[in-house]
Amino acid sequence: MTVSQPPPDFPAVFRALQWWRRDVPDSAVEHIAARYGNSPWAILAATVLSLRTKDEVTVKTASALLDRAPAPRAYLALTENEAEKLAYPAGFYRTKARQLRAVATIVLDRYGGNVPATMDDLLALPGVGRKTANLVLSVAFGQDAICVDTHVHRITNRLGWVATKTPEATEMALREILPRRFWQVINSLLVLYGQRICCPLSPFCSRCAVKNFCEQHGVGKAR
Ligand code: SF4
Repeated sequence: MTVSQPPPDFPAVFRALQWWRRDVPDSAVEHIAARYGNSPWAILAATVLSLRTKDEVTVKTASALLDRAPAPRAYLALTENEAEKLAYPAGFYRTKARQLRAVATIVLDRYGGNVPATMDDLLALPGVGRKTANLVLSVAFGQDAICVDTHVHRITNRLGWVATKTPEATEMALREILPRRFWQVINSLLVLYGQRICCPLSPFCSRCAVKNFCEQHGVGKAR
């Protein structure tokens, strides 16, 4: 006879994480969402700019860009040189400016300037993968969507909630087990936690708020 494992105590873990984050500044996406009223274009633009960029730089760069171009039509009115200059601080500025132009063009031509609100339509935009699409769906459109980035993937594996090799597999596994009320909040909580406590290398397990709930899968050196 096999003994089935009890399900993880999700409410207790989320309570502990929410308590931990009470004095932690917002993530880059939360900043941008608050500043631009959850605008889907703002979330999309900030996510494109955030690739391999520190949060502070993302917020600064995205804010400067969105103040000039708060919608796809305004973005397309920029010259190529202006668009590249605005993206410059975030690095890979030529690629990022080109991607934003391609996205803005499709959003304007195909959707009348409104970022689409379905997974399939978002995935059809150039360079948009499930991570970005889920972020737009949850933050901008308030839909139940799980955005799995590298932090969510790593931490949910360490906790023992999932045993997966890729963020996509993690998303599918979480969709099976995680109660829906946590879908929208898991990303921001675990991004902040992964940046400060459950880091990729040598996590701070000794001062972890959810240590009692963690199976520490794959954790080698810890502090
Ligand atoms: S106990 Fe360690 S591995 Fe587990 S969540 Fe906390 S910091 Fe991460």
